[in-house]
Amino acid sequence: MRAPGFRSRLALFFVASLVLVQGLTALLTYGIAHRQLVAEGGRQLSVNAGAFVAQMNDLSIRVANGVQILSLDYGLRSAIGARDKETVLSVLRNHGRRVGAARMQLLGLDGRVQADTLAPASDGEPFAFPDLLASAYDRRSAAVIVSEGKAYWLVVVPIYAPQPVGLVVASIPVDDALLAHMQELSALPRDVELATPVGEGRYAVIARGSHDSGLTESLSARGEPLPSTPTLAAIGGREYLVLAQLLRQPKGGGAVYAVLGYSLDDALRPYLPVWNAWLAVLMVGLAGGFLVAWLVARGVARPVEALAGSARRIAAGDYDDVPDVRRGDEVGDLAIAFHTMTDAIRERERRILHQASHDGVTGLPNRAAAESAVDDDLATTPGMQGALLIVGVNRLPEIVKTVGHALADRLMREAAVRLGQVAGTHFVARATDTQFAVWLRDTGRMEAIDTAFRIMDALGLPYLEADIRMDLGPAVGIALTPGHGERAAILLRRAEVAEFAAVGSTRGVDVYDPEADPHRPERLSLMGELRAAIEADALELWYQPKRRMADGVIDSAEALVRWHRPGRGAVSPELFVAVAEETGTIGRLTRWVLARAIREMTALAAAGIDVTVAVNLSARDVGDSELAGRVEALLRAHSLPAQALSLEVTESAVIHEPAAALQVLGQLADMGIDVAIDDFGSGQASFAYLRRLPVTELKIDRMFVQHLATDETDRVIVQSLVELGHRLGYRVTAEGVEDEGSLAFLAEVGCDHAQGYLVGRPMPFADLVARCMAPASGDS
Ligand code: C2E
Ligand code: CA
Ligand code: CA
Repeated sequence: MRAPGFRSRLALFFVASLVLVQGLTALLTYGIAHRQLVAEGGRQLSVNAGAFVAQMNDLSIRVANGVQILSLDYGLRSAIGARDKETVLSVLRNHGRRVGAARMQLLGLDGRVQADTLAPASDGEPFAFPDLLASAYDRRSAAVIVSEGKAYWLVVVPIYAPQPVGLVVASIPVDDALLAHMQELSALPRDVELATPVGEGRYAVIARGSHDSGLTESLSARGEPLPSTPTLAAIGGREYLVLAQLLRQPKGGGAVYAVLGYSLDDALRPYLPVWNAWLAVLMVGLAGGFLVAWLVARGVARPVEALAGSARRIAAGDYDDVPDVRRGDEVGDLAIAFHTMTDAIRERERRILHQASHDGVTGLPNRAAAESAVDDDLATTPGMQGALLIVGVNRLPEIVKTVGHALADRLMREAAVRLGQVAGTHFVARATDTQFAVWLRDTGRMEAIDTAFRIMDALGLPYLEADIRMDLGPAVGIALTPGHGERAAILLRRAEVAEFAAVGSTRGVDVYDPEADPHRPERLSLMGELRAAIEADALELWYQPKRRMADGVIDSAEALVRWHRPGRGAVSPELFVAVAEETGTIGRLTRWVLARAIREMTALAAAGIDVTVAVNLSARDVGDSELAGRVEALLRAHSLPAQALSLEVTESAVIHEPAAALQVLGQLADMGIDVAIDDFGSGQASFAYLRRLPVTELKIDRMFVQHLATDETDRVIVQSLVELGHRLGYRVTAEGVEDEGSLAFLAEVGCDHAQGYLVGRPMPFADLVARCMAPASGDS
């Protein structure tokens, strides 16, 4: 779940603060008001208690005044004197009704009951509360008693005639009605009750005012004594201040309390409108706060959200839509930082993109960039004519090896500049370490060849630095569109093939020739199968015998590879060896041939056959610096002398890489291995050049030998080659000897060895063994 957004959090914060502050204020206000009310309630209760006592006093005065009138009653006084009980009772009843008494009693000065309106039979009994009587003469004597669950206010008044003749006791019931009446007349609270103890901490209500709030019952239920000072109590879910005022009582009369309640809830009622107003203010404040918070948050959040959205777009690579936030606050600072960052990222990306698509040394676009540029052109103008040139600087690896990368880099920069001058507005790229690519749009074959030659001229001049003079060894391969392909990758590859061919040619420029392309699919599959055949040891090595002219003995044999391609029959070694050379498979092939030949040489030696074996090397083998070591190891592993092996190399193979060839052949010769120049006379090698090579044998190409019997020119050539060779110290072999006439001529001119169908066709190893074991058969 996503965390609440900035907007809602800010709004929430506003509201929470407002509610907190308002709530605390309300709580504080309530606390103060409550304390005030408690104090005020306490005061009021004390006043009320005083008022209650005063009311009872008033009652006493009223009753006393009423009874005083009675003492003026002549009839009563004489009835007392005459002991006329009936009259006394009737007078007492009359007055009692007037003062609201429930019972009237006349007592003698001895304190005994003389007449009682409620219990006429109690005459002569002492009055139940004598302590009330003693004080009655000095002042008004009144107190409350409880009788049969009811409270009575007893007022004792002496009767004078003029001397005291007795006392009248009026019992005024203190009941609900009286309390209600008192509430009406004075400032008594709504909650008034009279209570009397009925046990430990338990009280019974004996009268209550107009309002029944259950003060006593609630307090009694808790088992606590009634509070004599204003005390807080929860009664019926409401809050009260309660005060119990003990009323005056005679000895043995039972305690009676006036329980007064002050409802704080009621007292708080006047504050209710204030509370409501506060709530309203809070609500309005909340709504306003919400709105303002939302607006403020929106003011902040909007630009922040806009920047966040922009950041997401930047992540997707869109740098253009950065929001323009102009503000003087932190958000504005953020926006500025954001813009700065975007610019930096854009710049960095531009640099990275440039680096990804450009060559660091020359600053030219790289191969990938060239591919997409050409493809773009071809896509916008389908079928367009154009030429893709691959310009190779073929001496570069050698230059790097001898003078190092720094100088080689400067040379390539210089080459790029020269190339640019020729190419003009055309697209130039660095295709590989040693190659440039030039894309000539709307250019035909002739024009492309023309440009290629101008490039050759420009790069043909050596590069000079300090005292060093370096040939670049340029070559240009051309691929034409649409003829050679309509996609950049294909054109690049084909131009490369053409460049490869151009390296070997005299002109240094070549146009792609599909026939000669080693990468043609059928050739590639041929190579795949050849490699598989090598892995599976499925090739064969055949041997063609060589005859020593001096005595007609077969003293050596040339190893020739044979490949029966499954389902296709024998493949011409001329074909697959050439393709293997072009595709780099030749190394493996040569290793296989060497291993097989040396293994079989061991068998020859074991059979006591003294025949040396010649193995063909290709141009690439001659450049392989590990070759000599490998041959040596093989020979040593089979305990063969180096003299048992000889090697054949064509002229062109040596001319291609003279320095490397010289080194490799030198190592082999040093080991004692004979090296022969194969197909001699077919190439451009001169004797002068051969002198520098560690060669011991020349093999005259079969095109001069095949027709010796009939062709006078060939005879002259062969004779001079044999003589020259001998004079320079080489053994001379003639290959392609097919008839007796040729053989005879070769014998005549002193040729050392003859090889050809006449002597023997290439044959499996077993046949060679058989042939050599057979008794010498003279000249065939
Ligand atoms: P090459 O080295 O000049 O081998 C001699 C070729 O001439 C062989 O062809 C052989 O069969 C053929 N030949 C021999 N005597 C006569 C003759 O009297 N008349 C005619 N018309 N031809 C004769 P092959 O075996 O087809 O080999 C062709 C070429 O393939 C070889 O020419 C050699 O360049 C290459 N090659 C063969 N085996 C190997 C190998 O093991 N390694 C390498 N690197 N190249 C090989
Ligand atoms: Ca050969
Ligand atoms: Ca040959």
